[in-house]
Amino acid sequence: MRSTLSPSIDRVPVTDLDPFVDREKLVTPSGSGGAVLSVRDLRVHFPTDDGVVKAVDGVTFDVYENEVLGIVGESGSGKSVTSMAVLGLLPRSARVTGEIFYRGQNLLDLGERELRRFRGEKLAMVFQDALAALNPVFTVGNQVGEAIQVHHDVKDKAVRARVLDLLDLVGIPNPKARADQYPHEYSGGMRQRAMIAMAIANDPDVLIADEPTTALDVTIQAQVLEVIERVQNRTNSAIVLITHDLGVVAGVADRVLVMYAGRPVETGNVDQIFYQPQHPYTLGLLASLPRLDQNAEGMRLYRIRGQPPSLMHVPPGCAFHPRCDFAQVPEPCATVEPELRSIDELDHHAACHFAESVAGTSPDDIRPAAATT
Ligand code: SF4
Repeated sequence: MRSTLSPSIDRVPVTDLDPFVDREKLVTPSGSGGAVLSVRDLRVHFPTDDGVVKAVDGVTFDVYENEVLGIVGESGSGKSVTSMAVLGLLPRSARVTGEIFYRGQNLLDLGERELRRFRGEKLAMVFQDALAALNPVFTVGNQVGEAIQVHHDVKDKAVRARVLDLLDLVGIPNPKARADQYPHEYSGGMRQRAMIAMAIANDPDVLIADEPTTALDVTIQAQVLEVIERVQNRTNSAIVLITHDLGVVAGVADRVLVMYAGRPVETGNVDQIFYQPQHPYTLGLLASLPRLDQNAEGMRLYRIRGQPPSLMHVPPGCAFHPRCDFAQVPEPCATVEPELRSIDELDHHAACHFAESVAGTSPDDIRPAAATT
């Protein structure tokens, strides 16, 4: 049974809380196998004077209770836009199509007023930049408390107790004193923890953490990741961890979705992605990581050549073909868009015409030879 973070605030069933929710629809969509959050063929396009920016172009994934899904890719690959679409935080100019099911309810069918009931309570987000996300003129305790009171009619004393509980849970020392301090009095790592406390204030089913450790040094990064793990152990939430850092994913995620140019290029569990990559982009990302378990003397890192494409002018066929060492051009890589498919009949999929060949290659095979001195 799902635990609650605090016995002082009872969990309210979504159907009791929200008169707008169609109870008949609160079932799992077919094909999602009991996922808490199911995204189907999500596309987010932004029309501009110069053309249409296809920020997300056909993303599908499921996240289950008590699971961490890592979404990985370079800047501009569509990771953050995907999470903003799930929470309905995109600007009005965005054209969003596809389906986003939270426990069977398609969030794209809801209006802003209805969506607000889910956001923060059932689906919550830890934003990239904690300093920008926190309000500088309110104490951290006030802001965490407000996140609770927006969704629950709770007395101030109970809110205060809950705030202190949450700050304690995320590892903020001396929560009583710290709750009355302002964001500028917190260090970067503590602000990120305060953001996590706000996000989990209502014990959400789905927690989306968008680059929660970017701009933190490695020690604090490890501490923040440890907090996320601790939170999940207490809440059984489904967590979507968005990052460009494969190292972060390796330590925390159960499954991984690799994105490139707004499209999913490989999905699988952590072992499949790290030990049997089937897409050249994933292989390149892995080869570009330093190996700490090998003699680093003279070691040279792999570099994926070129730059990610403009999302307004995505190359035809496979979007990765101008940068790919395995590409066969023009046919088929520059003409036919590869489908996300499984080559081993396991839950491991790659969008590459030559996934079979790539599967036999290890990151060490493509790393440049060590420099001799
Ligand atoms: Fe490379 Fe072709 Fe595979 Fe795309 S489809 S990743 S260009 S080999």
